[in-house]
Amino acid sequence: MKKSIFLFIVLALSFQLHAQDIEYARKVLGKLTAKNFHGRGYLKKGDEKAAHYIARQFEKNNVQNLDSVYFQSYNFAINTFPGKIVVEIDDTKLNPGEDYVISCSSPTVDGTFTLAFLPDTIPTDSGFIQTINEHKNSGAFLISNYYPRKLYGKTFDGIEGIIILDKKTPGWHVSNGNKVQNTVWLKIKKTALPDDAKKISISATSLFIDEYKTQNVIGFVKGKKHPDRFIFFTAHYDHLGMMGNKTWFPGANDNGSGTAMVIDLARHFALSENQPDYSIAFVLFSGEEAGLHGSSYYANNPLFPLEQIRMLINLDMVGTGSEGITVVNGKAYQDVMNAFNKINEENNFLPEIKARGEACNSDHCPFYKKGVKSIFIYTRGKEHMEYHTIKDVDDNFPFTAYESLFGLLTKYVKEIR
Ligand SMILES: [Zn+2]
Repeated sequence: MKKSIFLFIVLALSFQLHAQDIEYARKVLGKLTAKNFHGRGYLKKGDEKAAHYIARQFEKNNVQNLDSVYFQSYNFAINTFPGKIVVEIDDTKLNPGEDYVISCSSPTVDGTFTLAFLPDTIPTDSGFIQTINEHKNSGAFLISNYYPRKLYGKTFDGIEGIIILDKKTPGWHVSNGNKVQNTVWLKIKKTALPDDAKKISISATSLFIDEYKTQNVIGFVKGKKHPDRFIFFTAHYDHLGMMGNKTWFPGANDNGSGTAMVIDLARHFALSENQPDYSIAFVLFSGEEAGLHGSSYYANNPLFPLEQIRMLINLDMVGTGSEGITVVNGKAYQDVMNAFNKINEENNFLPEIKARGEACNSDHCPFYKKGVKSIFIYTRGKEHMEYHTIKDVDDNFPFTAYESLFGLLTKYVKEIR
């Protein structure tokens, strides 16, 4: 009888601990996606506010810092639209973020322009270039169903503006914002632009910031056996920020989810009973969306020598998981996949762990290129599909595999020899 009560208490306690982990992660996610962080981008000090919040979490949970700061400052160039943006089609005002996005490389624009529909039959980028050039100096905004991904946001001399039609709410990207181009590019939701539309009125003022000052946030926990060798958990905490003075992108899955998990891992390993054998660094990068700036800066200016990194695990978009996880670079590290699969089978954590080859699609990349053993994990599942839109919010956020992935990672760290 006594023994079973004891067992019950132990089970209840361990359940409570787990429940607290995800509760804590949800609390962090709620903060990161709140309006006062302005989408953690380059207007209204969004990323700086998020950085201070993360540092406060580290401090509260006894995660150590280097030379009494959690920040590594650096800067990069970025084009922004700090003021009001107005887009009207035939005098009907469109909703920013919902009906349209403006390319981050667009110049200041203010005026009314005729619209010209391009033929539906453009097959390739070179066909696109040819068709566009037939409209040189027409003064019109050209509308295309064809999306020339690689040309998007570039200058076309003699072309005022180009509109790409999108079937759904268009996604915004800021990775081309390191330079202001001469052509205005917009993506507009197809249903917001009638087939017989005649004119567009547009007003947007761009502000190019040469040296936008930002910061990575770094905390660490000292290892028992190998204090001079590090496991790195990384995630980018920045998101797209604001497009104009009203529209903001909360970035719940991208990458509030990964940020919350890295902070939660830091909180876990900072408890004396969980002290790891290796030292662990928890690094939250800024500037990812603008072009992997934070991770590139760190890899070029490491605070702990790169040779001391035993392994780097990057988390970016880990809010789903009903279909399992994918490990980028998993194909390069069979030992990691074997260990993951073994832990997964023993604990029944995830439906599948897929290995992928190399891909320079998140913050592991600058480290991998310098020879650091690096993987990037994201979750898979259709329970949260919003990507780079204003709808990537934390309401009813799934976090389907949160505890499973957290369990996999903490158990894996214990097994690293
Ligand atoms: Zn992103």
